[in-house]
Amino acid sequence: MASARQTPSPRPGILEIAPYVGGEAHVEGVERVIRLASNENALGASPRAMEAYRALAGELHRYPDGGAVALREALAELHGLEPGRIVCGAGSDELISLLVRSYSGPGDEVLYSQHGFLMYPIAARTAGATPVQAPESNLTADVDALLSEVGENTKLVFVANPNNPTGTYLNEDELRRLHAGLPDQTLLVIDSAYAEYMEADDYDDGAALVRDFDNVVMTRTFSKIYGLAALRLGWVYAPQPIVDVLNRVRGPFNVTQPALAAGLAALRDQDHVAASRAHNSRCRERFAEQARDLGIAVLPSAANFLLLGFEDAEDTRLFLKRRGILTRQMSAYGLPNHLRVTIGTDDEMDAVIAALSEYLGEGG
Ligand code: PMP
Repeated sequence: MASARQTPSPRPGILEIAPYVGGEAHVEGVERVIRLASNENALGASPRAMEAYRALAGELHRYPDGGAVALREALAELHGLEPGRIVCGAGSDELISLLVRSYSGPGDEVLYSQHGFLMYPIAARTAGATPVQAPESNLTADVDALLSEVGENTKLVFVANPNNPTGTYLNEDELRRLHAGLPDQTLLVIDSAYAEYMEADDYDDGAALVRDFDNVVMTRTFSKIYGLAALRLGWVYAPQPIVDVLNRVRGPFNVTQPALAAGLAALRDQDHVAASRAHNSRCRERFAEQARDLGIAVLPSAANFLLLGFEDAEDTRLFLKRRGILTRQMSAYGLPNHLRVTIGTDDEMDAVIAALSEYLGEGG
């Protein structure tokens, strides 16, 4: 007799993961789409990075440098760090996943704040661990609320600083207070993906905390101000024992050679970084003011995006989309009445203001 068909089944919990949905990139029937849904750099990548990428076309048959030596040395020099405490990854997403899988599993908890970056709970569930949310105050991570959720099963605590999608941040004192309240065996992950955009004096990227303590790491990315999202390149600065763990669990060639070469060239073009930061701050404040003048609730943001509040955010998003403007829906972040808008070029932001003005004029 034929028995019931057996099929491979994933570990418990995997099918409960709501897959990460990236920002949209196309609109049917619209040729020139304005893409403001993925926090990419309005000015694109450095021309020097593009040149380094092109120059590698003849080397595609070669394996990359699995140790990412040149890039780690350049990162260390630029930021005043030790190259041996840096590990590169295929985007910071890969490093977030590797950290969670290495330091937590079934029965463990991974703590993050209410509107924190979605990859934290996804990575936790992938590892079989339980994601735990701490409430925020004023759409900002709340150190006391986070600490009150810490228990003996809390293996990792994630703080994106500044956070995506809220754009708010914890200052250096608050970050240190969070760390001081954690047990030695709990790993604090400071996700500084947007650090290069920060201009506030009380901000700290977390590198000093990593140097001072054995239970803190800082993750960074080339996807934001460096404009290399397509290449998938990120890095983590970590205490030596954690570096040793990551070097065991990562793929031996987890970062491609075009990514390493373009990343190195991008690092050497700090003028492009400075121009990107200056454009972002100016354009963000101009757009925020214009949006507020239209009566829209705009949250203060330190990063390259803004969170806007609407009566019917989905209706607003679809109106903008019909005009070829893509913004990000925020329901998955528990913010169904908000849209996240990346800061694009001046022309792109003018087009958003014109469309919003039209929308609100129509009584939307
Ligand atoms: N952390 C935060 C806070 C982010 O917003 C993002 C990108 N959306 C990432 C990490 C991941 O970036 P990547 O994998 O491209 O380095």
